[in-house]
Amino acid sequence: MTYKTFGKTGYKVSAVGFGGMRFKAEEYRDGPEKCAELVLYAKELGINYFDTAPGYCDDMSEIIMGTAFRQMKGGFFVSTKCGLWNAKTADETRARIEKSLKRLHVDAIDFYNMWSIKNMEEYRAYMKKGGIFDGILKAKEEGLIRHVCASTHASGPDIEEIVNDGIIDGVTLGLNAINFAFRRQGVKAAHAAGVGVVVMNPLGGGVIPRHAGRFSFLRKSPDESVAKAALEFLIGQPEITVTLPGISSRGELEENVAAADSAAAVSEAEMDALAGRLREDLDSLCTCCAYCDECPAGIKVPQFMDSYNEKILTGEIKPVKSRLINHWSLAASAAKDCTACGQCEKLCTQKLPIIKRMSEIAAL
Ligand code: SF4
Ligand code: SF4
Repeated sequence: MTYKTFGKTGYKVSAVGFGGMRFKAEEYRDGPEKCAELVLYAKELGINYFDTAPGYCDDMSEIIMGTAFRQMKGGFFVSTKCGLWNAKTADETRARIEKSLKRLHVDAIDFYNMWSIKNMEEYRAYMKKGGIFDGILKAKEEGLIRHVCASTHASGPDIEEIVNDGIIDGVTLGLNAINFAFRRQGVKAAHAAGVGVVVMNPLGGGVIPRHAGRFSFLRKSPDESVAKAALEFLIGQPEITVTLPGISSRGELEENVAAADSAAAVSEAEMDALAGRLREDLDSLCTCCAYCDECPAGIKVPQFMDSYNEKILTGEIKPVKSRLINHWSLAASAAKDCTACGQCEKLCTQKLPIIKRMSEIAAL
């Protein structure tokens, strides 16, 4: 396993971390033990950075991690989060932190994130007097939190503004071979500010392996899988500290660790060359994060936008209908129920024009 230094903290963290958002329901339904074995196996393979959050996997992720941490004899780092929807005040944040500590079976949380900041307005909501940031700061003074961090889906310039505020030691952001060119400004600014950079969604919500042909230019040899090449591409960037794939099996773990071992340093010139091969419309792909899944009209927005990716990748609208039917068992006609209320666009981490795409799908 390759280890990197986490910003100014000096911690040596594994180049590949464990994303705790993809445990399988059939494996945790009867208790956390089976999934905890996977976490323990990750530690055995050299992974020492574990990311979780309240709510992940039917709110079982922290419990699964904690079940594994009880059996580890130190030597690991844990990251968890608090969102604007988890707490409004510093006191509520404190209660949230105590709950996480108890579930994780640790005395202190290494990296505590203000969760999913989508723009500067939300950042300011975290920072308001007596709010979440104040609660985290107080817990830090008491030794319950080691480092204040942020997870974000904001644009490159907004990320730059946040890291230059000087209050966070680590930032977690969605980055992959699809969108790296458009988020480089934020990554570079974080690295320059001595902030550890953790990358989530490294395979673009599965879009990269599903369209392997489109991304085959990432491979260094024809027998390498595009998924492994996409991970190597991130691990090899000196500005990126931890790459965080969601893990649900031992096979995935082994493949991720192999990518960490084989990743070669990626130079600026190589990144410029790769950026030149990405069409700008790739940044308008849905990354299947599901933050928009609250449509009052009952439309499965993430599934519809995932299907719309087919148009961006193939240039044709017909495959959108096929993916809706064959993969999601959904009828395109449901898009006609869209009232253009705008709620999903407000929540979308990629700032996608969902209403316009819904009307295109409805026309099918
Ligand atoms: S704009 Fe349409 S798809 Fe989006 S939340 Fe409103 S009704 Fe649902
Ligand atoms: S439409 Fe936006 S918020 Fe919804 S799943 Fe896709 S990227 Fe995420």
